[in-house]
Amino acid sequence: MIMKNERLLKSIAQARVARLLEIAKSRTVTLGASDRLAKRYVSIAQDITTHYRLPADRTMKTQVCKACKSMLIPGSTCSVRLVGHVGYVVLRCRCGEERRVFYK
Ligand SMILES: [Zn+2]
Repeated sequence: MIMKNERLLKSIAQARVARLLEIAKSRTVTLGASDRLAKRYVSIAQDITTHYRLPADRTMKTQVCKACKSMLIPGSTCSVRLVGHVGYVVLRCRCGEERRVFYK
């Protein structure tokens, strides 16, 4: 019974994290990088992930800046640079933080 309850809690938490990231992304697209509420949504989603020990969400790993917690949207909040000979993309946030995403 406890295991079922824990699974249910985790599934609810995962749904909430996904919803929070979705809202944060839509707010960032419409209002830009300076939106504090979007950053707050990302922060809450990270808190839920650590509290319920959820596996790291793919969106959280690839589309959120670790330094300033803003959503990384190419063209509006981050710049994208290809490093073809090594096989990765550099996403540079407005705060200066860089993230490498390998595609090879
Ligand atoms: Zn940043």
